[in-house]
Amino acid sequence: MKLKNKITAITLCSAFALSGLAGCTVFSSNSETTATETTTAAAQTTAATESTSSSASAVSSHEWLEASKMEVAENAANELNEGNAQYLAGTASMNVSSALRNELTNGQKPHTVVITCSDSRVPPELIFNADLGELFTIRTAGNVVGEYEVGSVEYAVDHLGSQLVVVMGHSSCGAVGAAVEGHAEGNIESIVHEITPSVEEAKKSETDEKAIASKAEDLNVENTLAKLRESSIIKELEDSGKIKLVGAKYDIETGEVSYLGE
Ligand SMILES: [Zn+2]
Repeated sequence: MKLKNKITAITLCSAFALSGLAGCTVFSSNSETTATETTTAAAQTTAATESTSSSASAVSSHEWLEASKMEVAENAANELNEGNAQYLAGTASMNVSSALRNELTNGQKPHTVVITCSDSRVPPELIFNADLGELFTIRTAGNVVGEYEVGSVEYAVDHLGSQLVVVMGHSSCGAVGAAVEGHAEGNIESIVHEITPSVEEAKKSETDEKAIASKAEDLNVENTLAKLRESSIIKELEDSGKIKLVGAKYDIETGEVSYLGE
């Protein structure tokens, strides 16, 4: 949906995320979805969630990006929360129309930068139900960043006006898995090398290989955030309150995005 329409939807349904969608009226870019339809979708989501205990526990630990507490990027955070809720409810309908495409020839103003894994199961535009022009995405295996990636973030926050930067790892990440195994060939070695410190740190508190990998996925997000903050451009914009950096994790089984605590 277009940003304007999404903000309207948020206004009409401020408790959208917290209420589990029920009772909300949401306007899509092309048509109006009735409260009944939305409630039905929510019920289906609930039923699907209850069908597996692992999903239920993931839902209970799910954390929305706390837009109401953010001084900057509040609208961007609301966009992501709402978009992921619609993705989960099966009501996603991103605007990829020719009209919007033409409108964007005048320039782009993506509200959020998403740095995530290249994994084919982790497409940010789908996960956040984002339209053309809404997300500035940077993807590498294991969501690691080097000069090109950090430079891309600098461009987005300094020239395009993006206010929110989300570093999003994910469950069952193959790049992190390779780092846990400690084996990689070719140029993959450089990716594994970047993730290995997170694996070593995870091993200090975890013993089971699966738990080590999961913890390393979280720590790897923090490592990427730290790398971004080594950029004076990004650091100064964050320190002056003009942008917000957050860590997140996508669950490839439930489809949910959770946000990591600072
Ligand atoms: Zn991955």
